[in-house]
Amino acid sequence: MKKYVYLFNEFDDIRARLGDDWDAVRGLLGGKGANLLDATHIDIPVPPGFTITTEACNDFLAAGETMPEKLWEQTLEAIRKLEEQTGKKFGDVSNPLLVSCRSGARFSMPGMMDTVLNIGLNEEITRKLATRTDRPRFAYDLLRRLVQMFGNVVMGVPDEVFEAVLSAQRRTSGVTTDAELNADAWTAVIARFREIIRSYTGEEFPSDPLEQLKRATEAVFKSWNGRRAIDYRAAAGIPDDLGTAVNIQTMVFGNVGENSATGVFMTRNATTGEPQLEGDYLINAQGEDVVAGTRATLPIARLGEDMPENYKSLELIARRLEKHHRNMQDMEFTIEEGTLWLLQTRDGKRTAQAEVRIAVNMVEEGLISREEAVARVKPAQVDFFLHPQLDAEALQDIQPVASGLNVSPGAAVGVVAFDPDLAERWGSEEGRDVILVRPETRPDDVHGLLAAKGVVTSRGGRTSHAALVARQFGRPAVVGVEKIEIDLENHRMRIGELVIEEGEHLSIDGNSGLIYQGKLPTVVPDIANPWLINILSWADDIRRLGVRANADYPEDARRAREYGAEGIGLCRTEHMFFQEERLPIVRKMIMATTQTERAEAIASLLPMQCSDFEGLFRAMDGLPVIIRLLDPPLHEFLPSEHELALELTDLKLQLQHAADLQQLDNLGTEISKKNDLLERVQALSESNPMLGTRGVRLGLLIPGLYRMQVRAVFEAACRCHADGVDVKPEVMIPLVSNASELRAMLEPLKNTAKEVMKQHGMEFGYLFGTMIEIPRAALTAGEIAQEAEFFSFGTNDLTQTTYAISRDDAESGFMMHYLKNKLIRDNPFATIDPEGVGRLMKIAIREGREQRDGLEIGVCGEHGGDPKSIRLCHELGVDYVSCSPFRLPIARLAAAHAVLNENQPDR
Ligand code: ADP
Ligand code: MG
Ligand code: MG
Repeated sequence: MKKYVYLFNEFDDIRARLGDDWDAVRGLLGGKGANLLDATHIDIPVPPGFTITTEACNDFLAAGETMPEKLWEQTLEAIRKLEEQTGKKFGDVSNPLLVSCRSGARFSMPGMMDTVLNIGLNEEITRKLATRTDRPRFAYDLLRRLVQMFGNVVMGVPDEVFEAVLSAQRRTSGVTTDAELNADAWTAVIARFREIIRSYTGEEFPSDPLEQLKRATEAVFKSWNGRRAIDYRAAAGIPDDLGTAVNIQTMVFGNVGENSATGVFMTRNATTGEPQLEGDYLINAQGEDVVAGTRATLPIARLGEDMPENYKSLELIARRLEKHHRNMQDMEFTIEEGTLWLLQTRDGKRTAQAEVRIAVNMVEEGLISREEAVARVKPAQVDFFLHPQLDAEALQDIQPVASGLNVSPGAAVGVVAFDPDLAERWGSEEGRDVILVRPETRPDDVHGLLAAKGVVTSRGGRTSHAALVARQFGRPAVVGVEKIEIDLENHRMRIGELVIEEGEHLSIDGNSGLIYQGKLPTVVPDIANPWLINILSWADDIRRLGVRANADYPEDARRAREYGAEGIGLCRTEHMFFQEERLPIVRKMIMATTQTERAEAIASLLPMQCSDFEGLFRAMDGLPVIIRLLDPPLHEFLPSEHELALELTDLKLQLQHAADLQQLDNLGTEISKKNDLLERVQALSESNPMLGTRGVRLGLLIPGLYRMQVRAVFEAACRCHADGVDVKPEVMIPLVSNASELRAMLEPLKNTAKEVMKQHGMEFGYLFGTMIEIPRAALTAGEIAQEAEFFSFGTNDLTQTTYAISRDDAESGFMMHYLKNKLIRDNPFATIDPEGVGRLMKIAIREGREQRDGLEIGVCGEHGGDPKSIRLCHELGVDYVSCSPFRLPIARLAAAHAVLNENQPDR
């Protein structure tokens, strides 16, 4: 018979069924259930309870949302055992067992699913409880919570309606908080709640405890398919078929009086990673009160003064559970009349900054190994260290308009939207930068939050929904900005005197919690974070793949080195050609009609190129520098045909209205020049320039060009070498498809290199190699390796030519359709297509190395900074990847992950 139900103390039964496979336990019992079982097993005080499995949920949903009979029988059996454990009886008038019904999926989905507290109460039991405990206020508060939660979660009455009754009652009673309402007030509220339920649903609130239990369980099951749960799963990449478990747990009460409390906390600071408890609690309160933000909470450290004994136990439990889970924990607790109970523990969500610091600290504390620390930090988290921050200089001259809690770091600048749907429309559909501003966020707002660049709420604390979700998805956020008054009706907000309308700019700083009016400039910060430096250096020890940078200027090269580059994998010389003072010379070279004219133009480019390369060699002292000779089609350096035609028309018009002979003459010369240019542009025009005269083809057609570039490389290298710089130049020929091209090209170039070195009387190592970016080159790599001393995969062009997809259209048109409809798994320009492009690479690597021992092989396409592609490169035995300087830290980490994941199949 299927076992659908496990008591928290049935650790051994779970062991017998699933062994040590903790993943499977989580899958079956959900995260909450698994951890409660585990905590019970190691004698942490957990209120007794049981878990109904995710399997039960899936069977329930598959059976058209009906409870399998066996399931209900097992639930009743478990309730009987709970009665034995607690000495109370479910539904009993004089000694009632009350339980909570809590959802708990495999992956924690904060606030996504619903919980009902105090199940097992009804009017009669409450009346008795009130007299028996002599605390009528307490008893009726419990019942009103049950009616409210059950009415909302199970019966579908909007919570706002209940909340409206509550605030009306507070007004009538002349109090400000619920805690001050007395039993009579609660009785009135409960009566009103019942009426509301009746009028909304045409049904009575069920007074039969068993019916309450059954319906609450079913509601939790059903909530798996609610919109907010589906949205959250889509955003977090959680599969839809896991189902949720249900935890039925004996109630403990934090609202019995002043020696009772309830709270939530993290074992370390979730924003900075500092090793100290961080969280909130409330005296004399129950469950959701803390997170709901309806009462001002106290910081957890205060508990040390209020209830020192309990605080000490809490710290002890925190340390034990951290050690046990080897991770920072996010915990819920309740103190009932001086007795501490743990209600939940799970790995805490945290910012990238906190993740990195905690990982390093835990290594120092001996909790985890360096490998684990490195494995824990995700490449995307490293990315946050490179995220924009508000420009400190701009901040000097401007005052913040408000401040709140700095719950998720980074800066965000955008237009204010008060509505999540609007934020989604502006952000996702219109591509605008949006700041979502809300009184507080709820699970239904997640789509708007995800579409926004940043989030501001006027209420809520560090553990509020907005804070949790923002941190998880890396959105800068400032919450609890009390000064903001949001006027949802008129689409504006007020901060004191200041009024900001929807659509106006706001800048927020998630690091400081400050908010500024208008659109402030942002800067990318340094990665000098000491803990990140630790993680990255450990990653360097683990990885085998080298990392180089794509850098064209000495400035980039210096930054690249700072970020860990072990050389330059790609310097694109065309970027130098586009510089303002050079373009005219480049054009002269293209326009030249005689050999001498061309030679002159090329010669005047030489000193400029020379100084470019010198800077690179100096910045990369001791490291290899790959310089790619000119690659793009020449028309890119000329004005467009259309542009020229327009200019010509204009000149001809001027000609008709010329004032004197001199002007006529001038215009005439200009027109004839333009005509020449136009002719040249037309002559150069190709129907598909990306597949035309570029790369090595250009080098072969304009022989002096590549020779000049090589001369510049070696002149520069000699000059640096003379100053004691350790130079390692590598000259790379682009767009080769045939070994014969390379042979024809390399001979004169190698001679030039030797010549220059000889002139300077110098010797140093250097390589001549090629890009592999055309399928034919990959397929004939053996032959090509006879000529080339290194390969570098130009995976952008290789993808373009393998897939026959223009890289410039990769983000639009049919590709969007393909990606949406899963006709293609990943955008092949973002992640190397493993089966096609990857296969070509594999062939090229094998045949290249067969031909030439120790052939150096790299990847210099955009993919060099993509973690998935990096893993593939590692598996293919590539020597290094090269990426933009800002991706280097990510590449270093991803390369280490590739080693750590070596024997894991899923990618
Ligand atoms: P969520 O996923 O929204 O945190 P939970 O199931 O953890 O939902 O419960 C919501 C609140 O109710 C939490 O504050 C939790 O500590 C409290 N709670 C749940 N079960 C009990 C119980 N048996 N006794 C006391 N408080 C409980
Ligand atoms: Mg919880
Ligand atoms: Mg290319």
